[in-house]
Amino acid sequence: MQESFGNSPGDTAYKNALAQLEFAAQRLKLDPDILSLLKSAEKELSVTFPVPMDDGSHQVFTGYRIQHNSALGPTKGGIRYSPQVDINEVRTLAMLMTWKCAVVGIPYGGGKGGLCVNPRDLTTPELERITRRFARELADILGEDRDIPAPDVGTNETTMSWMADELSNLQGNYRPAVVTGKPLNFGGIIGREEATGRGVSIVAKQALDKLSIPTKGSRVVIQGFGNVGVHSAHLMRDLGSKIIAVSDSSGALWNPRGLDLSKLIAFKRESGHLRDYAGDAEHLKMAEILEIPCEVLIPAALEGQITDANALNVNAVIIAEGANGPTTLEGDQILNDRGILVIPDILANAGGVIVSYFEWLQNKSSETWIESRVSRELQRTLSEAFRRVLNYAEQHKVTLRQSALLLGVSRVADRIRELR
Ligand code: NAD
Repeated sequence: MQESFGNSPGDTAYKNALAQLEFAAQRLKLDPDILSLLKSAEKELSVTFPVPMDDGSHQVFTGYRIQHNSALGPTKGGIRYSPQVDINEVRTLAMLMTWKCAVVGIPYGGGKGGLCVNPRDLTTPELERITRRFARELADILGEDRDIPAPDVGTNETTMSWMADELSNLQGNYRPAVVTGKPLNFGGIIGREEATGRGVSIVAKQALDKLSIPTKGSRVVIQGFGNVGVHSAHLMRDLGSKIIAVSDSSGALWNPRGLDLSKLIAFKRESGHLRDYAGDAEHLKMAEILEIPCEVLIPAALEGQITDANALNVNAVIIAEGANGPTTLEGDQILNDRGILVIPDILANAGGVIVSYFEWLQNKSSETWIESRVSRELQRTLSEAFRRVLNYAEQHKVTLRQSALLLGVSRVADRIRELR
């Protein structure tokens, strides 16, 4: 498919991802044919289909599934439901999945899917019909050894159970490994829900140790209080950190003595937002959350949050990127110049795909993993990846972001060379 660029956030993200790949290609002296292969996706499917709504009308939806590269194994990546989804956003995320799986050493290529829809505008039966139809549209290119979806923004374990069921129905037998992130009673794995947050906490702790900052009492600020944000908060607190500020799309809260996490989570669960929280905390303007002095800042909400407009005001020692692409290229440059240690998204938020890999292994071998095995294996996989990225960064005098990218790209390129 021909690349086309406009000015949407997806276009900007894709241009940045291609620029990063060009940087890696230069540093690694990649063969031009390998670079040109990696610049494009192996397969892109764009689908448009009508679905009956509860009121009898029909609505038309557009979605994508993109398989960036399968040199290291079947492609793997989430399916996002959002009104902002566009093809270049999905291309970007698929490419990042290729580097992410490669850098943490799991045998997958990168893929991603997206459907242009706001799930909040739909009833559950409508969402189910849309998801099942989307699964049928993608069925030809999905499969447990071809391309394996998982949840992402706007989708969850229920969405995945509908997908797994629909794909299994089409194939005529139950194939739980066709999708990961399923509910436990549907072949899911224990610990998948908190896996990304657990991964964020593992790498944040390693970065604190590297800088000889005691984790106990370290101040943590979290932007985004959804799956990644809440679990990162819990797990950092369990390690001894103090969660001093959190925000969601409705508001931001700060208490330098530490927030009462259990109360906040209960409030968020009941009301759906943090805005009207009346506990012991000061309400801040949304943008201020990124400027609070802290040891660890965890952006766990959206893309493009730390930019050239605010990076000078960031007051963190370490940034652990829970979200995908929370820092723009310009913002990243400023953070580096200021000596802030940034743990890049493809490493910091890889806990989710690592545990998805364990779920896939569990399904393929008809086993049931216990919780301690999941956390132990996640800890081992991610800690080793962190050490590799850190060592390479120190050896080659590059940032952790550049190191993770260079390691990821070179691993894929090496495999392509071996396969030729
Ligand atoms: P989620 O929908 O559960 O949570 C997102 C949170 O961000 C919500 O609390 C929302 O209110 C908040 N938010 C939205 N806009 C905001 C703003 N302007 N300021 C502050 N908060 C805002 O999503 P999630 O699963 O936690 O994913 C968050 C990010 O992490 C995304 O970039 C996603 O791609 C990435 N990620 C998620 C996983 C996973 O396993 N869930 C894995 C890897 C990467």
